[in-house]
Amino acid sequence: MAEQEYDLIVVGSGAGAMLGAIRAQEQGLKTLVVEKADLFGGTSALSGGGIWIPLNYDQPRAGVQDDLDTAFSYMKRCVRGMATDDRVLAYVETANKMAEYLRQIGIPYRAMAKYADYYPHIEGSKSGGRTMDPMDFDASKLGLEALETMRPCLPGNQLFGRMSISAFEAHSMLSRELKSRFTIIGMMLKYFLDYPWRSKTCRDRRLTGGQALVAGLLTAARKAGVEMWRNAPLKELVQDGAGRVTGVIVEKNGQRLQLGARRGVLLGAGGFERNQQMREQYLNKPTQAEWTATPVGGNTGDAHRAGQAAGAQLHLMDWSWGVPTMDVPKEPSYRGIFVERSLPGCMVVNAKGQRFLDESGPYPEFQQAMLAEHAKGHGGVPAWIVFDASFRARNPMGPLMPGSAVPDSKLRKSWLNTVYWKGETLDELAAQIGVDAAGLKDSARRMTEYARTGKDLDFDRGGNVFDRYYGDPRLKNPNLGPIEKGPFYAMRLWPGEIGTKGGLLTDREGRVLDTQGQTIAGLYCVGNNSASVMGPTYPGAGSTLGPAMTFAFRAVADMLGKP
Ligand code: FAD
Repeated sequence: MAEQEYDLIVVGSGAGAMLGAIRAQEQGLKTLVVEKADLFGGTSALSGGGIWIPLNYDQPRAGVQDDLDTAFSYMKRCVRGMATDDRVLAYVETANKMAEYLRQIGIPYRAMAKYADYYPHIEGSKSGGRTMDPMDFDASKLGLEALETMRPCLPGNQLFGRMSISAFEAHSMLSRELKSRFTIIGMMLKYFLDYPWRSKTCRDRRLTGGQALVAGLLTAARKAGVEMWRNAPLKELVQDGAGRVTGVIVEKNGQRLQLGARRGVLLGAGGFERNQQMREQYLNKPTQAEWTATPVGGNTGDAHRAGQAAGAQLHLMDWSWGVPTMDVPKEPSYRGIFVERSLPGCMVVNAKGQRFLDESGPYPEFQQAMLAEHAKGHGGVPAWIVFDASFRARNPMGPLMPGSAVPDSKLRKSWLNTVYWKGETLDELAAQIGVDAAGLKDSARRMTEYARTGKDLDFDRGGNVFDRYYGDPRLKNPNLGPIEKGPFYAMRLWPGEIGTKGGLLTDREGRVLDTQGQTIAGLYCVGNNSASVMGPTYPGAGSTLGPAMTFAFRAVADMLGKP
């Protein structure tokens, strides 16, 4: 017998789970969210909060034209048959309705007119406007007490480890726009002069990215009256004799509780990237849980296994949302290197000192290239990102702020030879990092030559609109710079990820399918707990959060019989 009854039980508190819970409660379903961690928000709270929404409501303002056929054909080509057409179509048709709903509940977004889809060579791609970035959110709307229950941003994603920064601002700074200097001064003044707020917490009142999204969702959930439990992990799903999922068993305060769910259970418990055993079972090797950029302890595939025990079919289990990551001492998770690798004057090499990829390309393909290089025996794991003194002076790289602001003498002593390696010459650097010196020198020479001509003859870096988004627009090729002036630097990259993308296979309504392709009544799944609708690729920035929330939106409509 269930000890408590709800209409809907939602497992996890990432963006998809939360959106589903709010929508359901608003539509009259008594809803409970159970979260395993002691904080709400999961990886979603650490994220950029970007969503990839074809045909979105802000495209007219951004001067972007889009249409259903073009968006569908682009996404269909991207997914390479690894998600069915009807799921792809459901996504393209519904994503903007979901975004509209976010706006209605107080989480407006704006289209990023210059942020291109990730595969410009695929027909139907756009050179901007499908990715949306959340508008700033004032944390006082959520309230301080509730803010303390939300997973905070990682310091590495904030300016000086304290101040929130939006995707637009980050882009403006990295592109060296003059206005960015005033933006930084404005941000600092706003932060430091907000004494009434800062006297209560060091967390910035102004939230951006994933913090803005999750704080907005938590605010809306409180307003709607969703009941939310922390420290309450799902242990099992409960099924009736006919196989219908009728509830869950969770652990709370050391006790197992059986809870009933009259309409259904929505699983949104993230991926399995923090589970070493599952990584070894499913992902390409080598693979280490510590390489991931997601929260420690969080996503261990609990609900993958619970779903499988209930008869669910698993799909895409060998794929992840890859990104190269770096180990930064004292930071709880490895840091994703999304942007800096694209800036002119750096290159990435294997153990032979040779480049093996377009450093500015999409990050999932970057991670795959590292693993492929390793499999060939060329030593892509770890790979090394190498740059010279000029790059070091001008640009950030992982935890290193530009040398003009924080010179080597001001860096923590313990970081030398753990976070970064340094040599007066490339020979010296190569010896320190165990990379072939002749190969390294040849790669630097070629890169320097390509910077002069503006053409990377090896990997065509900077040869497309996506690459060029993060670069220096004043250069002949925004992504190419010489590597010639000592001292030289290297930092280590691991093939990490921002989540795994394999999970329970669902249909166009987010309903979980069994091994025969039949729906399991009462069971829905979204986000990285489910097999991604994006197949093996990442069509544009926001390809994980967009679908997580869109299929949660559809799942609730299905529960209510309102497709
Ligand atoms: P999560 O947000 O991780 O939530 C899962 C939750 O389930 C967690 O809170 C976890 O504790 C909980 N849970 C796990 N097991 C249980 C259990 N047994 N019982 C109850 N609860 C459980 N993606 C984008 O689309 N756009 C971006 O801009 C973007 N930027 C990113 C930037 C960074 C630095 C990182 C790290 C990731 C980024 N991502 C981005 C990826 C994105 O954050 C994740 O893919 C997404 O958050 C996954 O959402 P989810 O709801 O599936 O999982």
